[in-house]
This record gives sequence, structure tokens and C-alpha cells, in this order.
Amino acid sequence: MPNQKTALVCGAGGFIGHHLVNRLKSEGFWVRGVDLKKPEFSATTADDFVVGDLRDQQVCRAVLDRAFDEVYQLAADMGGAGYIFSGLHDADVMHNSALINLNVAELANKHKVGRIFYSSSACIYPAYNQLDPDNPKCSEASAYPAEPDSEYGWEKLFSERMYLSFHRNYGLKVRIARFHNIFGPEGTWTGGKEKAPAAMCRKVAESPEGSEIEVWGDGKQTRSFLYIDECLDGIRRLVDSDFTGPVNIGSEEMISINGLAEMAMEIAGKKLGLKHIEGPLGVRGRNSDNHLIREKLGWTPSRPLREGMEKTYRWIAAQVAASAGK
Ligand code: NAD
Repeated sequence: MPNQKTALVCGAGGFIGHHLVNRLKSEGFWVRGVDLKKPEFSATTADDFVVGDLRDQQVCRAVLDRAFDEVYQLAADMGGAGYIFSGLHDADVMHNSALINLNVAELANKHKVGRIFYSSSACIYPAYNQLDPDNPKCSEASAYPAEPDSEYGWEKLFSERMYLSFHRNYGLKVRIARFHNIFGPEGTWTGGKEKAPAAMCRKVAESPEGSEIEVWGDGKQTRSFLYIDECLDGIRRLVDSDFTGPVNIGSEEMISINGLAEMAMEIAGKKLGLKHIEGPLGVRGRNSDNHLIREKLGWTPSRPLREGMEKTYRWIAAQVAASAGK
């Protein structure tokens, strides 16, 4: 179709990338997706979907082969706390994600794409500002002096800086967001890479009334969680804006992990005990600071956590039931 906008979504087989493809299609884009794998839970709506490894320059050249109006770079070697904080995957996380970003930035610049969006993370914020669970500091400017608590965070910081360098030196139109714990249906819910909301929903759905579910640490560590639809609203607004970022895309509704477990139980209508066990934890407290996004985009996520958790619980309970029936 003449005048149809074109987009490339890197990481289109992943949780956010798959939802983003659906969003871009509903907005009328022609979309190419690329990923190591197809989406796990429902078919892609991309016009063209390439299964390929973005660490490989040849693959990158084949998919990023023109002046796309918009490129969304979400591909990364990542997982929840069990994957990121165990230390066992540090070399892979840094090497794999950095290679993807080096390739994508170079080719986006070569073809002079309209805009390139890069998904950074709240994990770039310094550990020393997140020791108090009730009072974490995550304003964008507080990223430096840098001291992320994981190699995953260091790679994100490196790649932010690389995209910003292409912006300064070559005029590449870059947009960078720092996501804070995005969750929702069709996210990883089992297998070790799942994050806290999905893990809590799964544990509650799997446990019989009156039993216990395991919570890592004392459960008093705090986080905020953003439902996928609001994350997509934030991405699209940022890309359409004139603001480069980096900017937080997250919720300011902070909750403890114990509180999250209680919420999943309330939704399920089950009373379960909490058993605190040792596990990988990350920082004590983290919350999005939305001053900058409010100022620059005149918008901020506003839906309550409970609403997203209800939708996610329903989806995960159905997965649990289906896998039990297998
Ligand atoms: P995800 O793991 O579901 O998606 C990432 C996708 O990248 C996966 O499908 C994976 O197969 C793909 N990928 C990895 N290596 C690849 C390679 N070499 N070539 C091609 N594809 C490759 O994760 P997500 O939750 O959808 O996250 C998307 C992006 O947002 C990531 O960059 C992540 O770091 C960032 N982020 C996510 C969150 C969150 O809470 N979900 C928080 C902060 C940042």
C-alpha cells in the first residue's frame, strides 16, 4: 500500500515485542518481526516474520535492509531475577545483547531509519539508591555515577550510551525508555525466566487451598509493575514525540512482594501461607519516578495494578489448568 508506514520489531517473538506487533498492526503499519523464535502463545500478526539471530551481522543486514519508518529494538538475552541475579548467565547476557545492539545501531544509521526505539531497563539505576524499600530513587538523572546491580543493567547502560552517541554524531533519531517490570498475559509464566507477577499468579493457581507458596527473601522488597497495554501506550507516545529520553516507562504504585502474593490470593479467592526461602533478590526497593515522562509527554501510566493482575491471573490460571490436563 502506498504511504503505509513500515516498522521493524526486533524481539517480536518475545513478550513485549509480540504485543507491540499487534499494536502496530492495529494502527495500520506494515510490520516485519524478527526473533530467535516465534511467539509462544499465539500467532504473530506481523506481515513478515523472520526467525533469525540478530547477533549475526548477515541476518541483521537481511532484516534491517531499508529505511524503515520505525525500528523497535527489544531483543535481549534476559529473564527475571532467577536468571539475571544468579550470576550464571553474565557473560551471555552482556555478549549477546551487546552484539545485537551493535549490529542494529550500525544498520539503522546506515539506512537512515525514521526513528529507532531502544528498550532499556530500570536495572540501570544504581544499587546505592535502592537500599531503602520504602524510598527508592529512580529519577532518570540519578543513573550516574553508575552502579547497576547486575551485568544486565551494565549492558543496558552501555547500549543506551551507544544509541545516544549515534544520535549525537550522526543525527540518528533515537528514543530510549527504561521499562520498570512489565507484565501481562502471554508473558513467560514458568521455567525460571518468569518475573514476580507471573510467578505469584502461577504459584497461587497451582496451590491447593490451605497450602503454602514460596517467596524469595523476606518478601519486604518493593517493586512497581506496569501492565503491558500501558507500556505500549508509553512506547508509542515516546516514539511519536520529539523527546529522545532516556525516560522511565513504569508504574508509581509500589508494592512489596508479600503484598503482590496477597493480591494474587485475593484475586484467586484462596487463602495460602507464605514460606520465605532464600533466593536471588536484586535491590531492596524500586519504583518508577514519572516526573520526566509527565513533563515531556504530558502522560503517565495511571491504571491500578490490581486491574492488570486480574487479567494476568485469569490467563495464567488457564495455562496451569491446560498443562495439568495434558
Ligand atoms: P522477552 O525475553 O520476552 O523478549 C526478548 C526477545 O528477544 C525474546 O523473544 C528472545 O528470543 C529475543 N532474542 C534474544 N536474543 C536474540 C537474538 N540473538 N536474536 C534475535 N532475537 C533474540 O523479554 P520482554 O519482556 O519482551 O522484554 C523486551 C525488552 O524490554 C528487552 O530488551 C528487555 O531487556 C526490556 N525490558 C523488559 C522488562 C520487562 O519487565 N519485561 C523490563 C525492563 C526492560
